[in-house]
Amino acid sequence: MLKEQRPAIPEAIKRSIRQKCGFGCVACGVPFFHYDHVVQHSLVQEHSEDNLTLLCPNHHQAKTSGLLPVEKIIKAIASPYNKNRTHSAGHTLFAAGSKGRIILGSVEFTFDFTRYPNPEGFATFAVNGTALIGMEHEDGNFLLYFYGADESGRDLFIIEQGELVVSTEAWDYEVKGRRFVVRRRSLPGLSGQVVLDLTKLDSGFRVTTGLVLHQGRGLRIKRDRIIVLPQNSTIRDIGFKDCYAGISVGIPKVGFISID
Ligand SMILES: [Zn+2]
Repeated sequence: MLKEQRPAIPEAIKRSIRQKCGFGCVACGVPFFHYDHVVQHSLVQEHSEDNLTLLCPNHHQAKTSGLLPVEKIIKAIASPYNKNRTHSAGHTLFAAGSKGRIILGSVEFTFDFTRYPNPEGFATFAVNGTALIGMEHEDGNFLLYFYGADESGRDLFIIEQGELVVSTEAWDYEVKGRRFVVRRRSLPGLSGQVVLDLTKLDSGFRVTTGLVLHQGRGLRIKRDRIIVLPQNSTIRDIGFKDCYAGISVGIPKVGFISID
């Protein structure tokens, strides 16, 4: 006989749990999580919001194996790690290989570090000399950079030196395998408008929706094109191969480190 399948947790409940927990593990804040039934589902036989929380893979495993007492989880639920912070704790996104790859809409940037050894990495997009999208290359690893903002320029979804943090002020943030989606509120009852959609690749990442803003200049990324702000110039369907810098606007000096 087939084992009885338990029904999926309804999407609305999952979103509410994510919002309550500040988009991270209640115990450590990591923005990479599982949905956990505090009292196990086989006993309660329901997906009650009061009995659900977010745990990172480490804390989930520790709870399941009994190493982490349920009392500790209940305490953490009362005061989730991310709740009084502007941003979640960090989570490392690993990327490795010889050829780095960043895809923004229909524009692809690749850099072959075996042909052009360059520990500085490459800047895909820079404003006034500050790289906002790009990567560094260190011992065969890529350290990724992406500064995703909301419409008012506030940090929304940041990858800095390979470490991801998410704004706890976002309306919704979801991880689906290697894909990260941030939404802002739209009309009541709808699932929200996607403002960031990034997929981590083995040797970089792909963004199909996103906004990067710095000192009044920026880049709006759409599935089929990228738009340079504020002048609204459009770039689509091209590739940048082995270029130390991709798109640089404002003062044309480029670098991850700014020297004042
Ligand atoms: Zn955790």
